[in-house]
Amino acid sequence: MNQSVEPSVWIETVIKDFIDHSRENTLKNKDNERAFETPLIGFSRGDDPLFEAYKDHVGPFYLTPWEIFTITFRDFNVNPEELTVISWIPPQTKQTKADNRKESFYPSERWARARIFGEEVNEKLRKHVLAALEEKGYQAVAPVLTPQFSLRISPKYGLASTWSERHAAYASGLGTFGLCDGLITPLGKAMRTASVVARIQVPHTPRPYSDHNEYCLFFTKGTCKKCIPRCPVGAITEAGKDKSKCFKHLFPVTKDYVTSNFGFDGYGCGLCQTGIPCESKIPKNKDVETDTVDKPA
Ligand code: SF4
Ligand code: SF4
Repeated sequence: MNQSVEPSVWIETVIKDFIDHSRENTLKNKDNERAFETPLIGFSRGDDPLFEAYKDHVGPFYLTPWEIFTITFRDFNVNPEELTVISWIPPQTKQTKADNRKESFYPSERWARARIFGEEVNEKLRKHVLAALEEKGYQAVAPVLTPQFSLRISPKYGLASTWSERHAAYASGLGTFGLCDGLITPLGKAMRTASVVARIQVPHTPRPYSDHNEYCLFFTKGTCKKCIPRCPVGAITEAGKDKSKCFKHLFPVTKDYVTSNFGFDGYGCGLCQTGIPCESKIPKNKDVETDTVDKPA
């Protein structure tokens, strides 16, 4: 790293360059279209009290940045404040969103490809960020790539995991949760997300919100609810998302469909992430009133 370049700027460049210029960013379709557009990036402190709060809410199995770091490097001398969580949001492409907007039961082919091959891109990007940090002498770990990452049952929330990329993004100032459980970011909810925990000092990204549902019109204004009818199996209601109903649609319904119609082993849905006012931006009431549902920005 050029010593005059701020670490935050350098890390952002590493992440954006990969998505914008690497041939690895591909849906693996005939035209090798890119899987994602340019990502948003945020940083949070390793000692941010939110991470301990997640553990209290989700369950004792939930890992803090300090826990995942110390388990990985077997270094119990590191202090939580020495760590930074680097989080990014790679948004779906315009074509992928436009295709899925037209669907009402199964995922479009581009969406299913983004779920499988796009996540492969995200995994390669995690490894790329780790390698870039390590090359400069910074220890770093991608929580979801560790043996400690697993699915668990949370007493409060049902199916959960030992690390949540969406919650890392929330802590890093990148968005708040919507009625259908997705993270609404400045680039909308049609996206994926990933993170890395590193022993590096980077100023944290301010959180421009004070409530975890602040960008969702249902929670703030009692309006919208457009994601409810988008769900083909009634998994979304005013009470939130029924994870079990959603899961049963993904497996085996969409899995069988993707395999037999698109010719690869995959699954996906994302109907509640497309064709809704928060698809590509933080929604405003006028987006519901003026029926921009089918024409997101
Ligand atoms: S579609 Fe409307 S109600 Fe559903 S998450 Fe988005 S803003 Fe909230
Ligand atoms: S992903 Fe599909 S099945 Fe699951 S809640 Fe959203 S629309 Fe419903």
